[in-house]
Amino acid sequence: MRQPQLMNHTANSLIASDRRPASTAAQPPLAHVWQLLDEVLDPEVPVVSVVELGIVRDLQWHEQQLQVTLTPTYSGCPATAFIEQEILQALHQAGIAYVQLHQQLAPAWTTDWISESGRNKLRDYGIAPPVGSASKRSLLGEEPVIACPQCGSEHTERVSEFGSTACKALYRCTDCLEPFDYFKCI
Ligand SMILES: [Zn+2]
Repeated sequence: MRQPQLMNHTANSLIASDRRPASTAAQPPLAHVWQLLDEVLDPEVPVVSVVELGIVRDLQWHEQQLQVTLTPTYSGCPATAFIEQEILQALHQAGIAYVQLHQQLAPAWTTDWISESGRNKLRDYGIAPPVGSASKRSLLGEEPVIACPQCGSEHTERVSEFGSTACKALYRCTDCLEPFDYFKCI
């Protein structure tokens, strides 16, 4: 009798139907999987990865099955289903055959979860990254100063509550006159 190969995190939650011989599926270390997913880009902002956005909350191996916990940026965001497909495809291409995606809605995603590198890439792409902390801002109830991602000027004005997508607002710089998207704090 062949003994099932036990890896980490197998004390419980074994899903029998997903047990397969180890030889058929790659099982790279989690640090490597994080790197893989750091190359899956957000379809709405195709310079920032789903890891930098903070959508990928947790990765765990359960035997040869990878458990991926995702929190969508906001419920009803049309990009969510597309992002899930992209993540599955990237993992399958890396030889990870058995993947379970979990959606975790609480705590809700906030722009605070966008990493520093993600914020820098947003700026380079021409989108003003969220200013300050979502929780602090709601306490103060003030409009933050949004710097122009093109010239850095703080002389900007909001043109519309909604930019190219619902999670962005349209701003305009009164110095260089360029319009730009601001990634809203939520
Ligand atoms: Zn400007």
